[in-house]
Amino acid sequence: MKIALVGIGKIARDQHIPAIAASADWDLAATVSRHGAVEGVESFSDFDAMLSARPDIPAVSLCLPPVPRFDYAAAALRAGRHVMLEKPPGATLSECHALEAMARDRGLSLYATWHSREAAQVAPAKAWLAGKTIRQARVTWKEDVRRWHPGQDWIWRPGGLGVFDPGINALSILTEILPEPVHLTRARLTFPSNRQTPIAADLGFAHPGGADVTAVFDWRQKGEQTWTIEIETDEGALLLAEGGARLSIDGVEQPVAKAEGMPLSGEYPRLYVKMAALVARGGIDMDLAPMTHVADAFTLGERLVTDPFHD
Ligand code: NAP
Repeated sequence: MKIALVGIGKIARDQHIPAIAASADWDLAATVSRHGAVEGVESFSDFDAMLSARPDIPAVSLCLPPVPRFDYAAAALRAGRHVMLEKPPGATLSECHALEAMARDRGLSLYATWHSREAAQVAPAKAWLAGKTIRQARVTWKEDVRRWHPGQDWIWRPGGLGVFDPGINALSILTEILPEPVHLTRARLTFPSNRQTPIAADLGFAHPGGADVTAVFDWRQKGEQTWTIEIETDEGALLLAEGGARLSIDGVEQPVAKAEGMPLSGEYPRLYVKMAALVARGGIDMDLAPMTHVADAFTLGERLVTDPFHD
């Protein structure tokens, strides 16, 4: 199937273009970007122009930041195209609900991707936790914003999510692997005095079984970067490390196993396999649980102010 890629920036270049190039399902047929292009692929700087010039392309993958993405997604659905959304699937939950309704009305596929859920050890962690009683879950997502988002201004603007841009990846894993859903009960959000979005967040969740579930996100981490989820159960302890790439049970590292029908590794190759399957069956996959926790944190969060942030 032909697909058009929109927003040729960091994640498009790092992940989407190589994943599509290696895919047996997809053929990159056009790009839309005001500045970027891919050699050998027809490029457009205007999205509507691409939609009218290329009715032969049935699907678009949107790699834009969250705030401008809704207009593109809505235009694509109105033009009868299947849509794949980078995370987070929108700037607000209402936008996401509106897109889902549009896709449903038109019989089109819509995929809110969560790339971290495709990390190699997330599915095995979920399988190991199934049926166990959770006592404690602790998420630690600490990274250096200057290293991962150099010069990116949109992450500091309203709708850019700040530290929740990586933090929502942790929440996408947590909501995937916990056997029972949690809901947010407290949040402390730390904002640089010169920015609109938080640089750190400290969250607490209520668990139906009374487990202690917490998350700490911090963008001021120097040196070693930490993306871990530690879960204590009645039958042992699980550690997911390196953003879901590594799994230990009771301190013993678990080998990576090949998942049925999936590439051995690669979060984005797996997303494109799933998108192909979704389009083939005319499905919609719009799980908004990670984003709901983020919205709740902004609704309920206590606001702390820290030093100004300069890139
Ligand atoms: P980016 O490089 O800053 O932006 C992607 C592209 O979007 C830009 O090249 C730009 O293309 C276009 N764009 C930006 N603002 C726009 C606007 N107002 N209107 C229209 N187009 C606009 O961002 P990114 O890091 O790739 O992130 C994009 C999305 O992917 C985010 O939702 C992010 O959470 C997600 N993501 C990023 C990473 C990562 O490592 N960076 C990892 C996983 C997921 P033109 O200016 O050329 O049109």
